[in-house]
Amino acid sequence: MTLFPLFVKLEGRRVLVVGAGPVGESKLDALLNAGAAVTVVAPKATEAIRAAAKAGRVEWRIREFRPADLSGITLVVAAVPADIAKRVFIAARARGILCNSVDDPDNCDFYYPAVVNRGDFQIAISTAGQSPALAQRLRQQLEQQFGPEYAEWIQQLGEARRELFAADIDPAARRQRLHELASEVPGGAGRAGGAGGADRAKGHVYLVGAGPGDPELLTLKALRILGQADVVLYDDLLTPEILELIPPAARIECVGKRHNERQVTQEEINRRLCAYAAAGQTVVRLKGGDGAIFGRASEEMDALRAADIPFTIVPGVTAASGAAAAAGVSLTDRRLGSALAFLTAQRCKGNPPPNWKAVAELGGAVAIYMPGGHEATLARELMDGGLSPETPCFVVSQATRPEEQIVETTVGELPKVPQLPAPALLLIGVVPARRPETSSKILMNSKSKFI
Ligand code: SAH
Repeated sequence: MTLFPLFVKLEGRRVLVVGAGPVGESKLDALLNAGAAVTVVAPKATEAIRAAAKAGRVEWRIREFRPADLSGITLVVAAVPADIAKRVFIAARARGILCNSVDDPDNCDFYYPAVVNRGDFQIAISTAGQSPALAQRLRQQLEQQFGPEYAEWIQQLGEARRELFAADIDPAARRQRLHELASEVPGGAGRAGGAGGADRAKGHVYLVGAGPGDPELLTLKALRILGQADVVLYDDLLTPEILELIPPAARIECVGKRHNERQVTQEEINRRLCAYAAAGQTVVRLKGGDGAIFGRASEEMDALRAADIPFTIVPGVTAASGAAAAAGVSLTDRRLGSALAFLTAQRCKGNPPPNWKAVAELGGAVAIYMPGGHEATLARELMDGGLSPETPCFVVSQATRPEEQIVETTVGELPKVPQLPAPALLLIGVVPARRPETSSKILMNSKSKFI
């Protein structure tokens, strides 16, 4: 049977919900959000419905359904066992009122669709009850594609449309402009400005953290924004599995400093970010882990601010979190201390070395990024600073990737651990000290897979 899709204005209309169990409760919000005046009829009700009735948000008739309850009603929802639902359906039909009986297609005139709600922008999906699971899956996908920013975006498009209709403008030009506006992305290439705002041509830069390697550790936001990219500038740390998620039409540039034969300087990266965005492109600056941790993000932000380019920061899962998960430990343990420090073994020229004594006396855990083969020196500095050689230490290489390797050792033994492939990270003091006879052991070697 072919259904007729429609979006209904329920503002001020009366809707009856028969049944006040968890199912009935789950049907209320959408009705109330649409401004319906809801009456619930049921002898018993959930806590939430009782509270809503008490607060005057719904009217609760504390008894069984009677056909007379349908008087003045626009729609009825029956969230009750099939025999009662059938009575409701028949009584509604006799009065020309449309009825939805939850999970009971035979007694339904209309179905609740799966809905992506972005303010005035709504997408409703129906399978006519054939596969609610498919509708749910599509909804989840569409929610990723059309993020919460679409709620504001649709308002801006509406305003721009009204302005264009109010302006004295050739209808063909107006149509073209309306289509141009609709093909832009929110926060992306330009803002919807009626006849064309001043920064219409300006693009947007997203500084996106991609996590430590496993593509499943990308955030939903990162994934959605990648899907909208015109240009992606990425680092060495990015795995091929993540790069595969970039849309084929996007321009992709590796600006990694390590493996790039012709090294791209930070100034050149800043310049490209600004230039692409100034040309109206949606630019994604994709960095390993969290871009704001040892990722030079502030230099890029300074350049973007100086060029007056709008940008958005999308945080990611930092390598220390990935490494801790790989090693099966927590980064903090209140029984061991109350501090967690992120350090890097690589310093910008002119910066003083970390205060190793302070680190040793921190009273907590330490994650050292970019140990870069200086493990022996690092261990010595920490022990000279007063850290016990028995302090447990993990070396985690390529955390969350298929090639992940983890060595559990102590700071004293660290210099003897063979060098593991980059990227690797040290986690110090995240577990209690073991007895001294324990020596280094490999916890995992090339076995872990993305699951
Ligand atoms: N912004 C990144 C860190 C960049 S510095 C983040 O938040 O994770 C680069 C260093 O991060 C590497 O030298 C290494 O120490 C660490 N690193 C990044 N990815 C890693 C991984 N998958 N496993 C272990 N260490 C990693």
